Amino acid sequence: ISDTTPALLAGLDPDQRAAAAVRSGPLLIIAGPGTGKTRTLTHRIAYMVNDHQVPPEQCLAITFTRKAAAEMSERLGRLIGERADDVTVTTFHAFGLSVLRAEHARVGLTASFGIADDERRLAVLADVLGDAAAARGMVSELSRVRRSPQPVDPEVTKALDAYLTKLRELNLVDFDDLVALPVDLLESDPALSAEFRARYSWICVDEYQDVDALQYRLLRMLAPAGGNVTAIGDPDQAIYRFRGADVGFFLRFEQDFPSAEVVHLTRNYRSGPHILSGAMQVVRPSTLVPDRVLSAAGGHADPARIGVYPAASDRTEAAFVSRTIDQLLGGTSLHSRDSGRVDDDGEDQIGFGDIAVLYRTSGQAGAVMDALTRAGYPFQRHSHDRLVERPGVRTLLDELTYATEARTAPDVYTALQSVAEVTSQRVSRLNRTERTSELYVAVDLLTPLAVECGDDLERFRRELLLGAEVDALDPRADRISLLTLHAAKGLEFPVVFMVGCENGLLPLRWPGEEPDDEQLAEERRLFFVGMTRAQRLLYLSHAAQRIWRGQLRENGPSPFLRALNSSIVERIDAETANRRQRAQQLTLM
Ligand code: ATP
Ligand code: MG
Repeated sequence: ISDTTPALLAGLDPDQRAAAAVRSGPLLIIAGPGTGKTRTLTHRIAYMVNDHQVPPEQCLAITFTRKAAAEMSERLGRLIGERADDVTVTTFHAFGLSVLRAEHARVGLTASFGIADDERRLAVLADVLGDAAAARGMVSELSRVRRSPQPVDPEVTKALDAYLTKLRELNLVDFDDLVALPVDLLESDPALSAEFRARYSWICVDEYQDVDALQYRLLRMLAPAGGNVTAIGDPDQAIYRFRGADVGFFLRFEQDFPSAEVVHLTRNYRSGPHILSGAMQVVRPSTLVPDRVLSAAGGHADPARIGVYPAASDRTEAAFVSRTIDQLLGGTSLHSRDSGRVDDDGEDQIGFGDIAVLYRTSGQAGAVMDALTRAGYPFQRHSHDRLVERPGVRTLLDELTYATEARTAPDVYTALQSVAEVTSQRVSRLNRTERTSELYVAVDLLTPLAVECGDDLERFRRELLLGAEVDALDPRADRISLLTLHAAKGLEFPVVFMVGCENGLLPLRWPGEEPDDEQLAEERRLFFVGMTRAQRLLYLSHAAQRIWRGQLRENGPSPFLRALNSSIVERIDAETANRRQRAQQLTLM
């Protein structure tokens, strides 16, 4: 880095700097996990605003989750101060909502339109079909056909039309509408799209490999072919096909934006070299980036191998996680011999906040939560469910609607407090620790929003529904993070446990269904995403037996584990683990 390197580019390597400094036109940054894509994007925006007079209010950065958006805003704030406030950092859905707020009348909505949650959608569909069971069978199909342009059964089209008409009568939109309606508006009104293009002349999209057809159309409306549009992503981390995402949009970026510059980043700053090689070995058979170059940036003097633990059951697997955490906290990891517990600055104390437990399905969290609770370890669970679908939040919201309608409270915050009080008394009578704490979590989650919303309950409901995922995960909290592989996208942790590395869970196999080749490839990429969240220590475990969705399942190890070269794996055998554990208990006695 020379003396003339602009300060905002100083923290970037030469490839990242080249990408951040592209002055105008379309740009595609294509790179593997941990190569600093998100970091480069953030610095790029800061640099353009600070050093190249790009008006911050003309910058639109689109991320995949609200959490990612909040994180990016915060980082931008640190780089360029309050000018960051003028940059729009948002998700596709939140952006669409802002368009609808301004243009609601043109799609037949009044200003106080609401957003239908899943329960409401189902009720509306059941109403128009006159058949609740049929509605349940069709509701997710409605989303899928709207997000991906595939041949559609005429029955479904008919149901969709009736459903949408009914929604509008009720002055409601659903989640897909949040993108679909603005797309219709912009596509049918050149003056409006010109207005938006002038308003946002700098557009960046992170995790572009996971856009669906509606989001893609929105982007095409906002960004002209030669425009200042930056797309960032990694095709090998495309994991949302089941929700209508299509990695094909990423792969054809250069056709859509023919003057695009393409930058590859090749240095992984996140993971130790064995973790990185292991992840590459796993993804290779399905890779969408065959000529990928990805190397560990270094600073791992004595890198840890990947720990693989075969457990007899989901219970013993959870006990392994908890026991290993115990050892890590005490500095006596099972494979401390050659562990990576040496980080760049020689600091090797691991805390709860450094640890994540990842799983394929949220139903696997129970066993882990039990074991952690028994050990007295603090944890936070990030569920990919919508905030409003958490039982505690749901209960509170229902009570709250009732209370404010009955005008027993003047503003949302006060109403929330009193409702929480009453509800907690009722729930505590049930004496179910989990449900009680769920309620506290829910109150914590809702409080900042309630304060912000004053007495506008409708806005509160709307924001809540829009918080498409539970944003409960506080990256700075001193707690172990529990989350699904999907929710772990973009994140990183010094220590990662991937539990349930079994045939049937990874790849996932629903009873009576066989995944096709595309699904298998996506499961493999999901495994890859999980592994590449780890910085220093990665443990992969599998259980011979587990209770899953109320059934006893017997699963063999995940076939993806076979891809791992034995030289980078340390098999942790159950006997040794137990013996060490017993020995430790004896010393303590
Ligand atoms: P993913 O594909 O998982 O989203 P990513 O490519 O977006 O990963 P980042 O999250 O931006 O990667 O960066 C990964 C880690 O590497 C972060 O901790 C980041 O601060 C660090 N990092 C990135 N670039 C550099 C650099 N030039 N020097 C030092 N650290 C870096
Ligand atoms: Mg990223």
